[in-house]
Amino acid sequence: MHSNLYYDFISLFFPRYCEACANSLVKGEELICTLCWSELPKTNFHNNEDNELKIRFFGKTTLENAYALLRFTKSGKVQQLLHKLKYNNKPEIGVFLGKRFGAIIRNTITQPFDLIIPVPLHKTRLRKRGYNQSDAFAEGLSEALQTPWISDGIKRVVKSETQTRKTRMERWENVANIFELIRTEQIEGKRILLVDDVVTTGATLEACANVISQKTANISIATIAVA
Ligand SMILES: [Zn+2]
Repeated sequence: MHSNLYYDFISLFFPRYCEACANSLVKGEELICTLCWSELPKTNFHNNEDNELKIRFFGKTTLENAYALLRFTKSGKVQQLLHKLKYNNKPEIGVFLGKRFGAIIRNTITQPFDLIIPVPLHKTRLRKRGYNQSDAFAEGLSEALQTPWISDGIKRVVKSETQTRKTRMERWENVANIFELIRTEQIEGKRILLVDDVVTTGATLEACANVISQKTANISIATIAVA
């Protein structure tokens, strides 16, 4: 723990700002101020086993549990946080949200997960961005849940083309066959928590869950936000 004098000295030269509202952070606050954190729209899906996110996957892939920290609203603070996490070189936002979320769901998990697996980026996109935002979220969750995570459980074999001009069916087909299971021996028979930054159509998570299900029937998902 730093002394107050040290903190005051540092913050004089390196003021820290909330990533959601841009107000100055006070002592003890990290990345997101207390007010923003309290006002962020939490889903509380972890309190309802058959929540709306889990129901979205009915008939598509079998999930034990479905968790999401926040509700995505366009032009809101959630969108801003996700945008910074993805495009502004701020993986620390993902780690922070993973730690916070892990602490929230920890006590509702009756049987601990064996392994956390993030949805992978294609390697050219990974090289361009420098990090996978879902890795950052996995890292934070891993710390809070005391569960190991691996970045290469699944591999993205084909780069998905731009999605905008495709129909819903074409989009689904576009991601359905682009994932491949890599660490099969580590996944076999294990309780897996599959994580992504945001769930929209669910097609990506569905495709990943389906490749994991070749080796284990016990899969849950966790995302930062649900759209
Ligand atoms: Zn704030």
